[in-house]
Amino acid sequence: MSALNIILIGAHPDDCELFGGGTAALFSRMGHRVKFISMTDGSAGHHQLTGTELVERRSLETIAAADILGISYEILGNPDGQLMPTLENRHLMIQRIREWEADVVISHRPNDYHPDHRYTSQIVQDAAYMVMVPHVVRQAAPLTKNPLFLYFRDRFQKPTPFSPDIAVAIDEVYEQKMQALHAHGSQFYEWLPWIERQAHTLPEDTQARIAWLKAKWTFPLTPLIRHSLQRWYGPEQAAQVQQAEAFEIGEYGLQPDESEIRRLFPMLGLS
Ligand SMILES: [Zn+2]
Repeated sequence: MSALNIILIGAHPDDCELFGGGTAALFSRMGHRVKFISMTDGSAGHHQLTGTELVERRSLETIAAADILGISYEILGNPDGQLMPTLENRHLMIQRIREWEADVVISHRPNDYHPDHRYTSQIVQDAAYMVMVPHVVRQAAPLTKNPLFLYFRDRFQKPTPFSPDIAVAIDEVYEQKMQALHAHGSQFYEWLPWIERQAHTLPEDTQARIAWLKAKWTFPLTPLIRHSLQRWYGPEQAAQVQQAEAFEIGEYGLQPDESEIRRLFPMLGLS
């Protein structure tokens, strides 16, 4: 079996880890190539540190997270909080997806609380299909097959709630995923507790912090995700699963049948 090329595209350095870090670690363990892209430089994600300091710190955090997960990582230079779905960003996205020869592309859904998440989604959607068009972005060879475009899980209900079309059991890499989140200390222990007015709940000790991180940033298995796990792993294996990540199939790329999904997600049914 030849290696698969997987690319996850988040708005900020930590989005891919949060919504797809476990799945990425599983792909990497199985010998597949995984890359994370952050569309913005993360320069707005703090209440004290200023732009340059923060960009530097978050760059180091992503290097640590990439090492933990066994993946490649690239941060694009768009200023955090100011991302726009420009033609320039669309072309950059087409180029990156082509250069990675992506079989699977995963990003945010188009409706989300954060404008950077929304526009990242827009940029990725605008690149779907165009990655195969030879006269667009001539410096990178067009893909001969449209990748599978997937969306990260989210909590938004309008206009349609997230549909967990694919659910991946991540129990065996859950600790690894949490270590990757732990690497983003500027976010999970500083910025997010501050903006959510929860800083007073954060413990000092490292082990206590990891326990706190798990309690706060482990997403529950909803009945729909349980149902999806049963479909992909069978009822017996699915019943054992404690941690999972889920993805929705986008309408603009490859429309896979069941065997194609199993080819692109070879960890399904193996947990
Ligand atoms: Zn984000």
